[in-house]
Amino acid sequence: MKISMKALFVSLMTITIIFISGCGQSNETKTEFATGKNGAVNLYTSRHYDTDTAIYKKFEDQTGIKVNVVQGNGSELMERLEREGEATEADVFLTSDAGNLAYLKEKGLTQSVTSEVLATNIPEKLRDIDSEWFGLTKRARVIVYAKDRVNPADLSTYEALTDAKWEGKVLIRSSENIYNQSLLASFIELNGEEKAKEWAAGVVANMAREPKGGDIDQVKAVVAGEGDIAISNTYYVARLLNSTNPEDAKIGEQVGIFFPNQETTGTHINISGAAVTKHAKNMDQAIKFLEFLSGEEAQAAFAEGNNEYPVNEAVEASETIKSWGEFKEQDINLTILGENNARAIQIFNEVGWK
Ligand code: FE
Repeated sequence: MKISMKALFVSLMTITIIFISGCGQSNETKTEFATGKNGAVNLYTSRHYDTDTAIYKKFEDQTGIKVNVVQGNGSELMERLEREGEATEADVFLTSDAGNLAYLKEKGLTQSVTSEVLATNIPEKLRDIDSEWFGLTKRARVIVYAKDRVNPADLSTYEALTDAKWEGKVLIRSSENIYNQSLLASFIELNGEEKAKEWAAGVVANMAREPKGGDIDQVKAVVAGEGDIAISNTYYVARLLNSTNPEDAKIGEQVGIFFPNQETTGTHINISGAAVTKHAKNMDQAIKFLEFLSGEEAQAAFAEGNNEYPVNEAVEASETIKSWGEFKEQDINLTILGENNARAIQIFNEVGWK
């Protein structure tokens, strides 16, 4: 029995080693991570852009601080950070949506950072009120419409999408998605729970189909004629437009971007952002890294990596994004999106938004 247990252990170890070796680069970073306080920045990120790697390299060259990157699916990395607790190797956690960062804060997995540089580079509403996370890129959640079927003069607000004239024409993803949760959380703040619920119920009534797929699938469905209107984050349309795949680029050209609620509460914005983890072992390096990412040199490239708006107002957006023009944003601190998240999920359930 003892022997077979040992044999089992050995073979499990072998499998583990093979698995780790099979991950290529992560094997290398894993070794360095093991030292914990290693004078590097140990980063968990859900971003996967070549531009990011180039920015990290610049940071390394300028500061001599190494950036060790674990890249993965956002929710899996969040679970991992939670599971690892104090033992985590992560100093910085980078992911999309203020709602996700607020979740980490609520779980006690982030910590407050005092930095003049971050306070100067990042507008107040795009960072946590307790300075536990910071927005680094900005996106808008807009109305995307079929250019051949919809006159943008007929568009106005998110609320107007619940009008009977859009029945069977609205495409939007599942309520399980954080982007929609944050959108509804913003409406709870701006219009109150009752109105937010009316909106959600009204959208469900006008859906072209049961929610499926991501934002980009809604945009593609508009072009395919399944509906006339989609709700999507801006960068997905920019990604289509800039695609090297001519079919995708063509899809991008067939839709228009409309910034809703310009006469009222403004268009919903959200961020990708980062937090210093609660159990960071390399605090100074982590803060320097965030400061660098918010700085003028990194901002344009960092935003462009995912076709987003820089948060640093001294930095210009890309040509594609500038071509859509300026718009009025919702004027709420994004911390609120986290605070209203649970209620938003409840409302979605109450109105049967799948
Ligand atoms: Fe996204």
